[in-house]
Amino acid sequence: MQVEMKPVIRVEKTKNSKISQVDFSNLPFGKVYTDHMFICDYKDGQWQEPKVIPYQNISLDPSAKIFHYGQSVFEGMKAYKDKDGKVWLFRPLENQKRLNISSKRLAIPELPEEIFMEGLKELLKVDKNWIPQSEGSSLYIRPFVFASGNGFHASPADKYTFIIACSPSGSYFAGKVKVLIEQTYSRSANGGVGYAKAGGNYAGQFYPTQLAVDKGFQQVIWTDDTSHEYIEEAGAMNIFVRINDTLLTAPTSDRILDGVTRKSILDIANDMGIDVEVRKISVTELVEAAQNGSLKEMFGAGTAAVISPISGFGYQDKTFDIPELKNSYAEQFKKHITDIQYNRAQDKFGWRYEV
Ligand code: PMP
Repeated sequence: MQVEMKPVIRVEKTKNSKISQVDFSNLPFGKVYTDHMFICDYKDGQWQEPKVIPYQNISLDPSAKIFHYGQSVFEGMKAYKDKDGKVWLFRPLENQKRLNISSKRLAIPELPEEIFMEGLKELLKVDKNWIPQSEGSSLYIRPFVFASGNGFHASPADKYTFIIACSPSGSYFAGKVKVLIEQTYSRSANGGVGYAKAGGNYAGQFYPTQLAVDKGFQQVIWTDDTSHEYIEEAGAMNIFVRINDTLLTAPTSDRILDGVTRKSILDIANDMGIDVEVRKISVTELVEAAQNGSLKEMFGAGTAAVISPISGFGYQDKTFDIPELKNSYAEQFKKHITDIQYNRAQDKFGWRYEV
């Protein structure tokens, strides 16, 4: 067995903290950045000295491969502060593992668990005061790796950079979420990169999502690329549907991101004794359920959006409203998950991780 050593992290603190300029009572999502970032370069076949440094611009050659071939992957996580000021992460090793799953698919060298975890913990210690304590706010964490090596040859780079940047954030969606079921464009395909958190997956969604926004929706629900007949996931969320009392979600595949929130909800639902079905959900079934009143709920689940109830969906030229439900599954799961995240309840699954 290979034993990996704890990396020595050099810490250089800023002399000019920006924290006093931030209105923590009115935080946007992902727009304000903390005083520091974690950075580690890869060259000569090895990850180099990891550092925490003041948050700053990075300089790249115009021929850096990230600009031309989009060779980059990222993660999205959050740090939560409880009422006693203790700092918690939620299943961070799932993100660490997924980053490497994504990297492998994009021919990016995998990052040792120790660099990811020790870098994250060190950064959170240095920027601890940036973690909001108020309900609904948290520190959004963005680990990412990109090709910093250069060359116009369409092949993997010889240098990479791993960065963790953090942003104290409020909620991801401003209000109710209406979604459009996509019939023309595809987010991913069999054998493709849909299961990876690759930057280009998101760029490819922007145009179809803009078209949906122009029609009055906030998000697209992607369907399978061959028939467009089965719902898969949304832009940055997995999708759940409740028909009568059964909770449904699509199985993960080549085309769908294996969401940490999704798998946590499945565990919670099973534990609560809810009838759960992980299977293909056709648009026909969804429309029929909306028409006959058996469609009780639809919601998105993801780190950024937590659990976001969906108030209706568009399909072809029709819109189907989903009436608000009291004591919904979405509400119950949200309470369960956030109670674990903010250390307000017992964590029987062992998901909480103290920093
Ligand atoms: N699907 C996609 C495409 C996403 O980008 C995300 C956000 N990471 C999710 C689902 C939800 O995943 P998680 O619960 O791990 O944040």
